[in-house]
Amino acid sequence: MDIHIPLPRIKLLNPDFPNKSTGIINGLSSGLLNWNDIAYPQMYDLYQTLLSNFWKAQEINMQDDIKQWDLLSATEQDVFLRINTQLASLDSLQTPTMCQVMDYVTDSSFKAIFAVIAQQEAVHNESYSYILSSLVPINEQKERFNQAKNDPIVRKRNELILDAYESFRENPSPQNLFQLGVNSINLEGIYFYAGFAFFYHLARQQKMLKTSTMISYIQRDEMQHAYFMAQFLRILLTENPELNTEANIEYLYTSVGQAVQLEKEWAHVILKDIEGIELSEYEEYTEYLANKRLRQLGLQNLFKERVNPMPWIHIFSDEMMNETKSDFFEQKSRTYAKVTQSNGFDEL
Ligand code: ZN
Ligand code: ZN
Repeated sequence: MDIHIPLPRIKLLNPDFPNKSTGIINGLSSGLLNWNDIAYPQMYDLYQTLLSNFWKAQEINMQDDIKQWDLLSATEQDVFLRINTQLASLDSLQTPTMCQVMDYVTDSSFKAIFAVIAQQEAVHNESYSYILSSLVPINEQKERFNQAKNDPIVRKRNELILDAYESFRENPSPQNLFQLGVNSINLEGIYFYAGFAFFYHLARQQKMLKTSTMISYIQRDEMQHAYFMAQFLRILLTENPELNTEANIEYLYTSVGQAVQLEKEWAHVILKDIEGIELSEYEEYTEYLANKRLRQLGLQNLFKERVNPMPWIHIFSDEMMNETKSDFFEQKSRTYAKVTQSNGFDEL
């Protein structure tokens, strides 16, 4: 396989092929999905977990936040709106990207999971609009969404992700699929957190709790998406050793490192006037997150190993909301050799 040649766009139905796909890409697959006959049965559990998280924005009544909105300082309001639309702009990329990947992945069970993720991204996107429409008039909503589009620092940090996503759109090759997966982890597993931290910071002062509830649902989804994408990449590299190269492992570390750097820069801009969030602490938190993502990929820590430096974020995390799944995300650091088919699955 040449990892730079575009993958074929898969026909909807190939009756001559088996239902259980012979590969996640370039596999023989009929296109029929029977969840009882799939190559990676653990994907069914992941699919179920994603579905059990189902929620929608309108379930959360914004009345309390509407009353509290005027009590926020002008700075808090400004940062609140900027972060809200910046998060919306990140989620806007995810829905179409996840849908596009479905056309090139041969395994139908993976297609189904990408479809659920795309649906959840659409809900996230809607929830940011819902929060905004509860708090400010339509003209300001529009202005804020335009601000997110034009903000140079937002653009700069989105570029890392956009480059990878656009490359896959132009040339849906295995190599570009790998890079898309890495940057999806950057987006869902690292980029959201300065924004989340701000809302949780308000919540610990008993402010805007409805917004924080919504944010914690989004976070729960994102952590599972990032986890799924890590599993997807591991399988991709195991099934396609041509991709499991030193250069690609290097790409992974470099790209996660860049995402950390860009996230720190963004935090310094957006959180600089917010009292009570220590930026140095947030920097450590970003590194802590990056290590966690790399371990999910079966790789080593890129940064110093530390305990969660912002335990108050943990209170709102899915580990706390969903105790039974706590070890789903907590994985031990291991020595990295090469990604193999079996590593990690015992922890699913
Ligand atoms: Zn999302
Ligand atoms: Zn996501």
